[in-house]
Amino acid sequence: MNTIGPRGCYDEAKRFAEAITMAYHRQHKLETRIVRIFNTYGPRMRLKDGRVVPAFVSQALRNEPITVFGDGKQTRSFCYCSDLIEGIYRLMMCEDPLPVNIGNPREMTMLEFAREIIQATGSKSKIVFKPLPVDDPKQRKPDITRARKLLKWEPKVELADGLARTIEFFRKKV
Ligand code: UDP
Repeated sequence: MNTIGPRGCYDEAKRFAEAITMAYHRQHKLETRIVRIFNTYGPRMRLKDGRVVPAFVSQALRNEPITVFGDGKQTRSFCYCSDLIEGIYRLMMCEDPLPVNIGNPREMTMLEFAREIIQATGSKSKIVFKPLPVDDPKQRKPDITRARKLLKWEPKVELADGLARTIEFFRKKV
């Protein structure tokens, strides 16, 4: 976690929200749950929300250059929206107030992801490299051991299937 730099206050806000939720649970006996959501994607994302899925898919559908930040070796793990919702629902239905990671542990580099999007869209786009944003995390892969045990949950939607549904949605938008 970054304590200084542009991401610092974002990370601290998440840490604080978890701490105050636990404090309410312990002090006031409130029924609480804490979910840690990792990168999620799916139809109905906003085209210009700045995140990588809408960015790459819209660039690919327009046959524009795909903008990979840095050397593209940083990793992310993308969870399809319906899997995320099922995980959150199961967490709400159980009794455990401790944080639970919900995400898809299938990890890939942003360069691999760019290639996957080009292939899935049948695009003529080329990959271009742009400066890496400050504090861009090098790796993101949820450890879902707790979700598997506690919620009997794991993601079901393969990346190729989730991307196909997402691309179909974006085709109507670009
Ligand atoms: N990214 C990229 N090109 C883009 C947009 C994002 O290479 O046009 C990279 C970004 O640097 C990061 C990853 O894709 O390494 C995921 O970015 P996003 O903002 O979607 O999620 P987060 O960084 O919050 O995990």
